[in-house]
Amino acid sequence: PPPNIANETAKLFHVNDVKDWDLLRASLIKFNNSSLEIPLVINGNRIYSKDNRDVYLQRNPANHQQVLAEVTQSTAQDVQDAITASMNVKKSWYTTPFYHRAAIFLKAADLISTKYRYDMLASCILGQGKTVQQAEIDCITEISDFLRFNVKYASELYSQQPTESSAGTWNSVEYRPLEGFVYAVSPFNFTAIAGNLTAAPALMGNTVVWKPSKYATLSNYLLYTVLEEAGLPPGVINFVPGDPELVTKEVVQHTDFNALHYTGSTKVFKSLNFQIQKNLTEDKYKNYPRIVGETGGKNFHLVHNTANIPNAIFNTIRGAFEYQGQKCSAASRLYLPESVSNEFLTNMIGILNESNSKFKPVNTSASALNGGDLHGFIGPVIHERSYDKLVNVIETAKNDPSLEILCGGKYDKSKGWFISPTVIKCNDPSHRFLKEEFFGPVLTVYEYPDDQFVELCKDIEKTSTYGLTGSIFARDRKIIEQASDLLRFSAGNFYINDKCTGAVVAQQWFGGSRMSGTNDKSGSGNILNRFVNIRNIKENF
Ligand code: GLU
Repeated sequence: PPPNIANETAKLFHVNDVKDWDLLRASLIKFNNSSLEIPLVINGNRIYSKDNRDVYLQRNPANHQQVLAEVTQSTAQDVQDAITASMNVKKSWYTTPFYHRAAIFLKAADLISTKYRYDMLASCILGQGKTVQQAEIDCITEISDFLRFNVKYASELYSQQPTESSAGTWNSVEYRPLEGFVYAVSPFNFTAIAGNLTAAPALMGNTVVWKPSKYATLSNYLLYTVLEEAGLPPGVINFVPGDPELVTKEVVQHTDFNALHYTGSTKVFKSLNFQIQKNLTEDKYKNYPRIVGETGGKNFHLVHNTANIPNAIFNTIRGAFEYQGQKCSAASRLYLPESVSNEFLTNMIGILNESNSKFKPVNTSASALNGGDLHGFIGPVIHERSYDKLVNVIETAKNDPSLEILCGGKYDKSKGWFISPTVIKCNDPSHRFLKEEFFGPVLTVYEYPDDQFVELCKDIEKTSTYGLTGSIFARDRKIIEQASDLLRFSAGNFYINDKCTGAVVAQQWFGGSRMSGTNDKSGSGNILNRFVNIRNIKENF
């Protein structure tokens, strides 16, 4: 029977769940004081840069002079070797009984929330610019939830069999893994997503070639070592950091390439799709590749004049600015009715401007750690490219007559890639600031006449390029019903009176359509269907 699993994530909300601050400090100091050498892992063998490989450096985005890790880069031959390893181990892996496979991932979840808790947290705080709370949400609770709930969903899936057999016959189905290997491409913003992109297919008996993000390799490698310690056999997941174009090109031209499991930018996802379709038309593959991808969003908070305003403000601050707006689900456009706009903005900006206490960055420098305060709300953005892009957004806003910066708009790269939480008012509903994803702490606000609510819903639905998340804030039931009816495809995750971020595994199945992805819903059993190749067996007696 499916195991009874409770949400790790549900245990924390609004509070930091860190159990022992001294242990966290010790882990932060450990990573602060050493630059780790990170190898490739192919068939369980570690290959380092001394074996004639290039490296890339992973830096601390809050202190860009600080190198946290030197990462070995895969060559084309390494990628081929990883593919060979994954194909060689396939049979012994998928013939391993499910309860053994499952135990490995359940044990990994336990190791993450116990033995490696503080190292996982420190690697995300330092490497990915997370606050303590955001690190907890990501690399402890969400990742454990993914690992555990996938086991529950897999056991439910495996138990589904044809219900009918005529007299003298017997029908059954066998849930085989895909015939080829899975390519997992993971993003910088969630270590949990990296865990799910690799572990979900592996749990179903697949083998995986994994390219981690350059900006999250430290936490991703730690995750890999945890899986290994939990008993994952060599070759089941092969860890191949490196130049994205080189790795991808090698992978997607291989005849055994059978699935892409991707989270990242829309641009890269489109390019991957293009390469795959091209190879397909050139008859390169043995199977039609399964494409499972989650990309960007331009997610909305739509406030109605019957909303509970303090609740809408609180959730907008969290939805737009937690993790510096670098969640695919982050709120980046806010629609306010004219009648409440003033009150809303004055209060929200008042809170945002209290920057000294709540909104300061977490100070993780070694001296500050000695008893220093680890609480904080805002960290750096991930890298210089992102910083430059956001500076450009802010400077554009200063010079565009239809835009007005209401708060924030400051930036500072002297130490880390810091952008202050920025709110920009826009008076043109078709402006690109209400359409383009910036992936940072920038929220564009549009004020609409109260009586235009229905037209606004229709317009959002019609013109949204993305379809990831969105929220409606209203107390009037009729309005909630109306918005939910009109906003059908512009948000795969639709929230009522809550922020549009923070989907909890198994509670809110996550994903959207349009240019936001294939909407296969991570955190649900649905996604596992994409990684099985079902054989139906009929026997006559
Ligand atoms: N699942 C996360 C959330 O609901 C976002 C995932 C992402 O950024 O890709 O906030």
